[in-house]
Amino acid sequence: MKHPLKIARILVQLTSLITITWMLMTAPTAAVIAIRGSVEHWMLIPTAMIGAASVFGFWLIITLAFGRIYCSTICPLGTIQDIAANIGSRFKHAKPYRYKPPSPWFVKAGLLGILFMAAGLGSLAASWAMIPFLEVSPYDSYVGIIDNVVKPAIHSVDSEDYVAPSTRLILAAGVNLLFIIIMGLTRGRELCNTLCPLGAALGAAGSISLFHFDIDTDLCTHCRRCEDVCRASCIDSDAGTIDPTRCVTCFNCLEACKDNALKYTTRRHRLSTPMLQKIKPVT
Ligand code: SF4
Ligand code: SF4
Ligand code: SF4
Repeated sequence: MKHPLKIARILVQLTSLITITWMLMTAPTAAVIAIRGSVEHWMLIPTAMIGAASVFGFWLIITLAFGRIYCSTICPLGTIQDIAANIGSRFKHAKPYRYKPPSPWFVKAGLLGILFMAAGLGSLAASWAMIPFLEVSPYDSYVGIIDNVVKPAIHSVDSEDYVAPSTRLILAAGVNLLFIIIMGLTRGRELCNTLCPLGAALGAAGSISLFHFDIDTDLCTHCRRCEDVCRASCIDSDAGTIDPTRCVTCFNCLEACKDNALKYTTRRHRLSTPMLQKIKPVT
């Protein structure tokens, strides 16, 4: 049976992707512009972060409380990777996910540096969003994919007066989309945890989130079912640990664990029967 938190995550994720895609594809009437304004108000766009400190603060509080909910529900690039990963897992020779060690600290520091630069430079850095392979601004990247790949593909068959974007923009967005899909198909959410500056920042906040995923090592049977479905490759079931900086709060592991050993909780589990413990001397 599907876990209710996973069902809720998928529903919010699909609703968000469909709404964003619809508003980017639809002719900009006054109503659509108003909807786009309110939706974009809640998106984390690095180049607008200085002017939208309250939105950044809102997502910071959500991440500190519940983990990387933004990555599991709102971000369109996260949803594309999840859809690709879902398709990839159905291939006959698809291998289950396994724990991978995290990127070295200097990679994360570099990504955070890029994020702060993008926030500081504002509109000057907006064009960075279109650099393939480096999702400086995931939302802007998605807008670029719709404007420069999806719309030209549709308008080329149904409209004569449509002005197509330049070949450079089409190529950049096309390569970006292809890269995101191939990464999702073959590596789940690895892109999120190695190349996304926003993911590095949300991961830093997620590392101390109140609610987090925790393995009860007294109950764990080391069956690896949770590792099999962890697209972030952040569960080490041998060690009984989950890397909270890379966990994208997808709830797949909660559903996979049949031994009730994995929980989404505020508690940090301690062994109830550790191998070494003080024994009271018999008197
Ligand atoms: S890590 Fe970046 S690309 Fe991935 S879901 Fe989060 S914000 Fe989006
Ligand atoms: S630890 Fe669980 S919730 Fe976090 S990414 Fe892995 S499967 Fe998803
Ligand atoms: S699925 Fe549960 S029992 Fe199996 S390895 Fe993961 S935490 Fe342990």
